[in-house]
Formats: sequence, structure tokens, C-alpha cells
Amino acid sequence: MRRSPADRSGRATSGRAPRPRAEQPEQLGFAGMPERLFVCTPSKLGSYADCPRRYRYSYVDRPAPPKGPPWAHNSLGASVHTALKNWYALPADRRRPEALAALLKGTWVRDGYRDDEQERAAFRRALSWLEAYVETLDPAVEPVGVERTVAAKTAVLALNGRADRIDSRPGPDGPELVIVDYKTGRTGLDADDARGSQALALYAYAAERVFRRPCRRVELHHLPTGTVAAHEHTPESLARQVGRAEETARDIMAAERAVADGAEPDEAFPTLPSTRCGWCDYRRICPDGAQVPGREPWAAMEHAPDPTARN
Ligand code: SF4
Repeated sequence: MRRSPADRSGRATSGRAPRPRAEQPEQLGFAGMPERLFVCTPSKLGSYADCPRRYRYSYVDRPAPPKGPPWAHNSLGASVHTALKNWYALPADRRRPEALAALLKGTWVRDGYRDDEQERAAFRRALSWLEAYVETLDPAVEPVGVERTVAAKTAVLALNGRADRIDSRPGPDGPELVIVDYKTGRTGLDADDARGSQALALYAYAAERVFRRPCRRVELHHLPTGTVAAHEHTPESLARQVGRAEETARDIMAAERAVADGAEPDEAFPTLPSTRCGWCDYRRICPDGAQVPGREPWAAMEHAPDPTARN
């Protein structure tokens, strides 16, 4: 029998009681009738897997609890992603490195930096990453999707998510889709990161169904180092990742049902303290997070990488 997250950790609790969300999954109670699908993104599932309490703060408690201040590394990641999106929105003959400074400046996110000097240095760094990166791209090649939302249903999940880019590349039996995810964190990535990423696998699973074309290859493009970490999935490895995602969804639905049935929300959504706590948006209101020294919003610009960064 599956154990609830509360059983697994038995971590500290706090007093904030969640109000079940409007789309609370519910068992319909008639034999043979399906349960409602769990509507989710890969990042929603990842949030619960990282820490059930953080999931609750983000997705269940209403009104939503206050978050900490914005992070500079998230601003940097968002700015780079938007610049690349807008680069692809240009006509192919204008997709040149010289266009990037204006694109980056136009949608630059300023939040979280220590001061103007640090922000200017980050801008210069981001621009140099982008200029080097677009040199590796053929401007005439149109991706199948840029920041494209893909969606799919399984027996348990109604999945949707936005892939940074979906390429079409030649395969042995015709064109195949490739999921591309941009990364701007400080540490490089390897094939194990690409293989283990549930988000990339779920994007591949959904893209294959949306476009009715094989999508097995997933790639992490790390802009600071100009490296690509790739993995070729098989139908079996994608099915395994989907199975794990369904298991997480069942855990979440069980926790939500337990709260609806009167269980203590703090027990249904236990804390899962880790090195991530210092970077957690809810550290200040979380009983375990409050024990951990917090990071300055700009810390990832100068010290250790943020292990929670998904940009
Ligand atoms: S501070 Fe740590 S334990 Fe608390 S919600 Fe955030 S990640 Fe979870």
C-alpha cells in the first residue's frame, strides 16, 4: 500500500490551513466511472516532488502566502529566454547577432540584482552568451515551435507545458521532433541531466501526440558554456517518466483528498528540507525553512548556483 507523503517524512508543521483549490480532484464514487484527470504542468509536479509543503504554498493555499523577493538569476533566465523567443519572431534575414542587444534590452527584467553595476555585468554576460549561441543556429531554419505549449492526456494526467523550442530534424524514417530547453544556471549539465529530466520527457511525450511525429530526443542547451546535453528516449523510457509523473499526481490527489476529509494540512503536505530551502520563496513562512540561512536575491550571481533553478 502506498504511504502518504506525511507518513514518509513526518516533518515539521505550520499553522496555515489551505483551502482546497477549485479544481480539487474528486472521486466520483460510482464504480466504473473515471476519476477526474489531474491538470498539471511538469513544473507543478516537480514542485511537489521537491517539497510537498512548497507545493501547498504555491498551488493549494488561498489566499496565496507571501513569497520572498524576486531572484536575480530568475530575472536573468527570463530575460535570455524572451530574447531568444523574440529572435525567432524576427524574419529570417534579420536573425543576426547584431539584433540581440536591442532584443535583450527591450525585455530585460531588472528585479533582484544587488545594484546597477551587478545588473550591467549580468546584461553584458547574457548578451555574450546569446551572441555566441545564435552563431550556432541556422537563421533560415524555422523551429516547429518556440515557447510552444503542448498538451496530452493520460489515464491520470491532463498535462500541459511550454517547451522553449521544438525542432524538426531528419531521422532514419523521416522528420523527428527534438525538445530544446535553454539553461542559464552557473553549472554545466550532462547527459544524465537530460536523461533524468521529467519535464523534458513529458514535453517529448506531449509533443509527439500534438504533432503526430516521433519525439524522442531531448536537449539541454547551456548558454553560459555553449554546451548541449542530450538524451535519446525510447517509448519505454518515456512511459516510465509518465508513470512516475502519474504516481506523483496520485500522491498529490491523495493529500488533497485527505485535507478535504479533515486531515491536518501540515501533515498531508509535509516539509522536505534540503539544500533548496535557502533558495525557497517560502523560506520565511516555513517552519523548517526558517531554520536555514537565507540567500540574498542576487546570491547566484556571485556564489553557489541555485539548485532549484529551472531556467
Ligand atoms: S523552506 Fe524548504 S521545507 Fe520549507 S517549503 Fe521551502 S523547500 Fe520546503
